[in-house]
Amino acid sequence: MTRLPNYFMNNRLTLSQYKLTNFLACQRRFQLRYVRRLPWPANPLPARTEQLLQQGQDFHRLLERHFLGLKISLETIEDGRVRQWWQTFQSHNLVQQLPNNARFLPETGLTVPLGSHLLYGRFDLLVIGEDDAGRPFAHLFDWKTGRPIEAGELKNRWQTRLYLALLAEGGNAFWPQGEQISPEQIRLTYWFVQEPDTPVTIGYSAAAHATNWGELQQMAAQLDEAFAKDAWPLTEDWSHCRECAYQNYCGRQGAGTAIPELDEAEEPDIPNGRLLTPELP
Ligand code: SF4
Repeated sequence: MTRLPNYFMNNRLTLSQYKLTNFLACQRRFQLRYVRRLPWPANPLPARTEQLLQQGQDFHRLLERHFLGLKISLETIEDGRVRQWWQTFQSHNLVQQLPNNARFLPETGLTVPLGSHLLYGRFDLLVIGEDDAGRPFAHLFDWKTGRPIEAGELKNRWQTRLYLALLAEGGNAFWPQGEQISPEQIRLTYWFVQEPDTPVTIGYSAAAHATNWGELQQMAAQLDEAFAKDAWPLTEDWSHCRECAYQNYCGRQGAGTAIPELDEAEEPDIPNGRLLTPELP
């Protein structure tokens, strides 16, 4: 058996879409945030942003309860905006096309090995079952309460690539006999509450997975190299610094400021205490 060098063992990370995105944006930011675990963001968010974030999180909890089979009564939803989102969701039955044998697994996490690290994702809703030909399928759903995003941009986002790759590599864990699921049987639907009539569904394929997985492996190797050399370069693209809480550490205060784009569904509980940082304030 091949033994991993100590620095790999000591620096085994659980990589989420947010960590990958941060690593690609700026390796120094990644180091400050996830290795040195400095607080993020350094300053409180504007009250309006906080409120929208909270409403988004409340909406996700609501849908989780719904897909767990719990009854939701409108009167118990205190926030008017969340109540309106719930009514919009109810009038757009996204899952009616799925086979009768489909099983609904809300807020489900999946972890698979990636080199010397782990890759982790938590899905708003995972639906699994067998199609008419008896082949296993997996359909992910992701709820978005923020600004709608174009299909082309969604397809290239790390959230999409990571989720599809996770299921292709580790989706068999959801079947009792460990049936292999082919990438062609995996899809991901984004539903934006602001554009409820036009959900975006993205499919997958063996060829796309080979490319996607290869790039993820390369990124893991880059990360190992950064640990081995303890080299975490500052990004050359100063636009990333505008929404970064660490400008003072880098002397990049001249970059200006912007409120970081926040996702109501950022995972707060990655199962590895060493890596836990508050993803959201
Ligand atoms: S301020 Fe810029 S260079 Fe410094 S950590 Fe943030 S993104 Fe990287």
